[in-house]
Amino acid sequence: MTAILELRGVGKRFGAFSALRDVAFDVGERETVGLIGPNGAGKTTLFNVITGFLRPDEGSIRLAGQSIDGMAPAQRVARGLARTFQTAMVFPGLTARENIAMAVRQHAGDGLRWFGGARAASAAAEIAVRLLGDAGLAHRAETPLRDMSHGERRIVDALMSLALSPRLLLLDEPTAGLTRAESDRLLGILRRNHADTALLLVAHDIDIVFGHCDRVVVMELGRVIGSGTPAEVREDAEVRRAYLGS
Ligand code: ADP
Repeated sequence: MTAILELRGVGKRFGAFSALRDVAFDVGERETVGLIGPNGAGKTTLFNVITGFLRPDEGSIRLAGQSIDGMAPAQRVARGLARTFQTAMVFPGLTARENIAMAVRQHAGDGLRWFGGARAASAAAEIAVRLLGDAGLAHRAETPLRDMSHGERRIVDALMSLALSPRLLLLDEPTAGLTRAESDRLLGILRRNHADTALLLVAHDIDIVFGHCDRVVVMELGRVIGSGTPAEVREDAEVRRAYLGS
């Protein structure tokens, strides 16, 4: 399997405290990998190191076969890395279509410029309508985000991140506050409609992770303590001790 993301020996310290130690694993193209571990395991720090918001003290990271060490976050985005939008970046008074179209134009940067102003806007709106339709939300395209349910808004968040078909999408607790059915629907949309995008998913809900991921990586105190298929990880004695409470 070709790796879209390769982490090797990644270490990050905050003062004397090691938040990440010798972290190494791959995410394959089109693969969905779950990242789990108790609070303080280093999951958020690892996301920040991958996206370039934090600089690791050790190790190397490759995206699509090329080193991204030292690259600014925007350069990584340009190479196909995306992260779910923070809710703060959406406009509650604007419709789902308008929010997604804005994300398309923001991601595209100069990419849509050759369309010209009005053409760029309609191209972005078309992409937004298509994404909403694929997600079964065509009927909500003209609904302001503030009038949508929490579950629908999480789907719109994900669609905003998928606006330009990233090669790898990092998802930090995308199913927080969702029912099991809503979570299954969101992950189903991501995996079915966006199969070319690999996912690295942090979630506290073990059933969601084990139910939707091809592989699972388990962290504790900054280290990877286990990885494998959901079935393998479920049986791993170290993982059970550290995380599954048995
Ligand atoms: P997780 O997301 O798995 O809960 P984090 O990556 O948020 O873990 O945190 C890992 C450890 O690093 C925690 O002990 C946290 O207190 C510490 N940490 C995270 N960010 C900082 C920071 N900016 N300064 C100091 N310590 C930090």
